Amino acid sequence: ALMITDECINCDVCEPECPNNAISQGEEIYVIDPNLCTQCVGHYDEPQCQQVCPVDCIPLDPSHEETQEQLHEKYLKISAKA
Ligand code: SF4
Ligand code: SF4
Repeated sequence: ALMITDECINCDVCEPECPNNAISQGEEIYVIDPNLCTQCVGHYDEPQCQQVCPVDCIPLDPSHEETQEQLHEKYLKISAKA
C-alpha cells in the first residue's frame, strides 16, 4: 500500500482518482486505507494518486510492503465484494 505524508495540502485531487475508494479525508490530511490500496494493481499500470498529487507526498508505506502477488490477491478480494 501507499501512504500520504504530512506534506499533504488537502487539495482533494487524489481522492476521486482512486479505483478502490481507498483515499478519504482524515482529521488533518488525506489518508489511504491500506486494506483497500492495491497500488492500483488490477486497474492501472501506475498508482493514480501518485500521478496526480501536486506535492508528491504519496510514497510506499514501509509498514505495508506487499509483493505484486499479494497486491493482486487484494484486488481480487476487493472486486469480489464490490
Ligand atoms: Fe488508490 Fe491506487 Fe493510490 Fe492505492 S495507489 S490509494 S489504489 S489510487
Ligand atoms: Fe494530499 Fe496529494 Fe491527495 Fe492533494 S493529491 S489531497 S496533496 S495526497
